[in-house]
Amino acid sequence: MAYLTVTDGVKQFTGFRALNGVSISVERGEFFTLLGPSGCGKTTLLRAIAGFNDLTSGSIMLDGQDLRAIPPHKRDIGMVFQDYAVFPHLSVFDNVAFGLKPRKVPAEQIKTRVAEALSAVHLQALAERLPAAMSGGQQQRIGLARAMVINPRLLLMDEPLSNLDAKLRIELREEIRDIQKRVDIATIYVTHDQEEALAISDRICVMSAGHIEQIGTPQEIYGNPQTLFVANFVGTLNTLADGEGRAKLLAELGISANAAHWTIRPERLSLLEAGQGAPSGAVALAGTISKFTYLGREAHVLVDTPAGALVVQVSNPALGAVRTPGEAVSVLVERSALMAFDADSKRLSL
Ligand code: ATP
Repeated sequence: MAYLTVTDGVKQFTGFRALNGVSISVERGEFFTLLGPSGCGKTTLLRAIAGFNDLTSGSIMLDGQDLRAIPPHKRDIGMVFQDYAVFPHLSVFDNVAFGLKPRKVPAEQIKTRVAEALSAVHLQALAERLPAAMSGGQQQRIGLARAMVINPRLLLMDEPLSNLDAKLRIELREEIRDIQKRVDIATIYVTHDQEEALAISDRICVMSAGHIEQIGTPQEIYGNPQTLFVANFVGTLNTLADGEGRAKLLAELGISANAAHWTIRPERLSLLEAGQGAPSGAVALAGTISKFTYLGREAHVLVDTPAGALVVQVSNPALGAVRTPGEAVSVLVERSALMAFDADSKRLSL
């Protein structure tokens, strides 16, 4: 039995079904991320677990206990929000101690526990400061310390990094991941940022329009997407245009499957000089460069081919390795890189 399970969770708002039969299970100490576009129901699911918003139907069990029967403040769940929700008139220490007061923790213990929580988020030196003058990253560390200090049974985080700038976001996500592994508290983390989800999670649950598309490790989600939605949302995709060029390419690769959508990731394609041959299990598709986009650590080369316009991602493009529109090239397509999906957008095995 998993530590936390949500089974057949449904949330019906007036005129809108935000969760349509969602089931997840989270293990002890696991970092579990809900990933999906805006409006897919991530926050609704998180709030149902926290108890801010009850489900319409379905069950939520934590460590063998029916959570829906317990009021939010008795669930022992720590929560971190997008807007830091710190009290500006309270010192960093008092902000973190805040959650312990109603729990009737003796003053001496409050001191030790707050000190521990502040040291975990590297804020011990600032305990007496007021948060107003602190950076967004520091304020979010206060939020994290406050959520952890109660020794929660579960840590819930709703887009905690989205108000921070890109560089700090990367720094703090590494820190959150390290802290979570150290304190070993099962964590459910909400984000719409794919890269963040891949970097921080043990497992990712990809959601769309109130349902779950796929649950898996970052490697499974990115490397073995089970639906077209997941393949598109986590990473980028080329789609082969329906037509003779595609049919010929598939035939040359020895693929006879029938599929509605044929896709390939830009980083799984590479460029060959025009006329260069392909090794077995691959095809050299003749084409013409129509666009070159230099992005520093990679470049995107758009190539018009008989199977449609394909983006080829070139890693570490050498200085001066500019490709000019109009240039004739070949695109190396490996059989193993093709992903096929049926008309319902479900992955087909090849
Ligand atoms: P975001 O990243 O934008 O927060 P989300 O995936 O967290 O998106 P939710 O906040 O869970 O999405 O909302 C899911 C859907 O439910 C949205 O379409 C939202 O408009 C709708 N919704 C949320 N709360 C209510 C409500 N009280 N009444 C009606 N509809 C609601």
